Amino acid sequence: MYQLLDFNTKDVVTTDDFVFAGETSPWEVQMDIEHIRRKINLDYFVSAAPCLSKYLPLMPIQEPANFVSLRESATPLVKSKVLGKELGIDLYFKVEGKNPTGSFKDRGSAVDISIAKELGAKGVILASTGNMAASCSCYAAAAKMPCFIVVPEGVSMSKLAQVISFGGKIIQVKGSYNDAANLAYKIAKSRKFFLAGDYAFRVEGQKTGAFEVIDQLLFQVPDEVIIPVGCGTNITAYAKGFAEYKDLGLIHKIPRLVGVQSTGACSLVNAFDKKAKHLEPLERADTIATAIAVPFPIDGDKAIDAIYQTGGEASAVSDTDMLKAQYYLSTQEGLFVESASAATVAHLFKKKEQGLIKPGQRVVCVLSGEGLKDPSVVLKSAIQPPIIYPNEKDFDKLYDSNFFDNKTMVFVEKDQVLFRDMPNPTQTKEALENLFGANYNDDLIAKVQSCIERFLAKGRAIHISDLQDIVQDAMEMVDITRSDILKVVSFKVTTGQDKIAEAEVTVELNGQLYYASNKGVGPVDAIIQALCKACPSEIQYQLTDYKVQIRGQGADAVVYVEMKLIKGSQNSVGKAVSPDIIQASVEAFIDAYNIAHPV
Ligand SMILES: *Cc1c(COP(=O)(O)O)cnc(C)c1O
Repeated sequence: MYQLLDFNTKDVVTTDDFVFAGETSPWEVQMDIEHIRRKINLDYFVSAAPCLSKYLPLMPIQEPANFVSLRESATPLVKSKVLGKELGIDLYFKVEGKNPTGSFKDRGSAVDISIAKELGAKGVILASTGNMAASCSCYAAAAKMPCFIVVPEGVSMSKLAQVISFGGKIIQVKGSYNDAANLAYKIAKSRKFFLAGDYAFRVEGQKTGAFEVIDQLLFQVPDEVIIPVGCGTNITAYAKGFAEYKDLGLIHKIPRLVGVQSTGACSLVNAFDKKAKHLEPLERADTIATAIAVPFPIDGDKAIDAIYQTGGEASAVSDTDMLKAQYYLSTQEGLFVESASAATVAHLFKKKEQGLIKPGQRVVCVLSGEGLKDPSVVLKSAIQPPIIYPNEKDFDKLYDSNFFDNKTMVFVEKDQVLFRDMPNPTQTKEALENLFGANYNDDLIAKVQSCIERFLAKGRAIHISDLQDIVQDAMEMVDITRSDILKVVSFKVTTGQDKIAEAEVTVELNGQLYYASNKGVGPVDAIIQALCKACPSEIQYQLTDYKVQIRGQGADAVVYVEMKLIKGSQNSVGKAVSPDIIQASVEAFIDAYNIAHPV
């Protein structure tokens, strides 16, 4: 029915354990197409709607009863409403996020886990960048098999939550995806676990994606299929699916396959540019799109072969372009997909810019995963929504200040330095216009200026990403020209090894100074205690919620602080950003105090 081949030598291979891969060379499953042709009714194939049972004869499953299926596949092929017209092409999106665990991996996991069960493995192990883990742990749970998962440290919490919910046993390793894959391989060999993941059998499930595209287009073959590439397994699967349909005589040509990577992890593109047949490993992968953050694709040799065989290409897009495409898909096409999936559309935009779109072509973008898989990526570019009291006045204030005309997402190369020295108000206004498309009034610009001044006073240049935080901060600041607001005049904190921290603070209200000092378990605690004491209000404050976010990396990262003060039944939320956590805490406190004391 099928045999296993070494992909590079094409020798027939076997194994007495559950690892279906060579140490250095991938294996592949070769189906007996003649046998399949005799078994299936091609007329039925052309007329039946896409569903798994239809494709089962093309999969290496011995007993259909053993097949562990959770209704993966039969995902929508959606015709583009906007982008296709804009590009002058016949564009479709294969929405793979609609699979049970939110990515196309489920097609492969169904076969992978079914084979593991059929062969009687006592457990499954795999490496993953996140989605593979979510998918395999789900199918392993359905098959009642233990599932061990090795992931590189830093995988999105939402993906890990999915794995944990399915009972997967996660090990995070300090290393890349490839380090995780090498470890999983060794453990599978020594402990006789089934090695799931991007190996021979997975392709046999994932190739149904290609079958479906053809079925859904009523056997009209697209000119091009664009696929995001991580390990290169899915593009390999599409190539195999189209080839098998052609061998069965169901189609007469094969689409060009385009593999898209991030510029931060583009070993396939490097090989393609050099017309090489083998991929060179990268030192590391650097991209926000974790699903394709792979320095050395396991199926890279297969993927590049698929691209050459079909006359396709390999293409790299930047993270920023991916995020923009992701936002475009959501807002224009109503499709919220993972950033890795949006790489396909970012590629089309790149081609448009280069004037290389061929008009009238039929193109399919494989939108590989669901947007909710990694919301943190989206939130990083998002302008945080304002928090107001539940009254109309506060809404009107935002509405009338044209707040809702601003962009809600800002895509920037975060690290770029914007100001080293204090800009004048016009420069600030221009920078904000360019970045946020916003035309802010002088009042807000004045607030932004005061925030910038405080940043620069700390010896920290203003990066583009800071400005986003600063504007948010400024938007929610009370009117700084009001004379009756509380201001900090000075503060000082001392702390040291095994010492209680002490803080002193002087604040000013209506021209009068108030001073207090206090101790705390740490510097932040000490300063908050001192502020509480110094506040010229006889009402006691209770600090209930103190949140800190570090924005960016490195010791000079910006700190965002949010705190909630409670005064009787009223509460107020203060927020601030600063490169200095103590200062951010002080400013957030003052902010909350002033909000609680409206004129
Ligand atoms: C796994 C994955 C990819 C990459 O696919 P490969 O088969 O590893 O090339 C792309 N997008 C999503 C959402 C994925 O889960």
